[in-house]
Amino acid sequence: MLLVSNWKMNLSHAEALTLADGIGNLNSKFPIVICPSFVHIPDVYNKLKGKANLIPGAQDCSANGFGAHTGEVSAKMLAELGCKYVIVGHAEKRKACNESYEIINQKTINALNNQITPIICVGERKKAPIKVTTQQIIDDLKAFPNLAECIIAYEPNWAIGSNITPNPQDVLQIICAIKQSYGEKMQVMYGGSVNEDNVKLFHNCDLSGFLLGGSSQKIETFKNLLNALGN
Ligand code: PGA
Repeated sequence: MLLVSNWKMNLSHAEALTLADGIGNLNSKFPIVICPSFVHIPDVYNKLKGKANLIPGAQDCSANGFGAHTGEVSAKMLAELGCKYVIVGHAEKRKACNESYEIINQKTINALNNQITPIICVGERKKAPIKVTTQQIIDDLKAFPNLAECIIAYEPNWAIGSNITPNPQDVLQIICAIKQSYGEKMQVMYGGSVNEDNVKLFHNCDLSGFLLGGSSQKIETFKNLLNALGN
């Protein structure tokens, strides 16, 4: 069970360091990928050194390898700092930058070329009948030829940061459809308003882990979530 802690554009530098220390002290039996803002990465990664089960991650990488791309951060730069996982195609980023799946696929390729495992986010924007949603997810994933080397995070956009929990049966159906289409070994996580109260509802969903936002940005709520998982 892999947990990914996405800090988004939250936390001051000092708060990020405090959170990194705090998560380290939780002694999680589950591996946790820590994804701070780019500017906090070097100091936060330093805090993770020697901490069992805390893994350096990032929230995004560039679709370009290097060069004149103002404001971008390459997968190679992240790899140099020790990054092992990168989130690509997160709904918030996709919306803000109008990213296409072609662009997101380019990011996965750059990550893989630098020995970073991409966590590809997919999910419907609006609630729709589960059959429609399932087909949409399967179709969207066709954009990624290297899927077997990646992790998929199923995140219904409407469940992110909204405190709305989808029906676990629907989540299970989507996970099963992904595995039937792309291979039983595919690693699929769920993300979107996962917290201490609902995390156990997903126990039958055949998940490889959870992509966590808000509940992993405060020590108390993260601790309670880990406890709910049996830490
Ligand atoms: P949330 O974020 O847990 O705050 O809903 C999840 C995500 O954005 O991946």
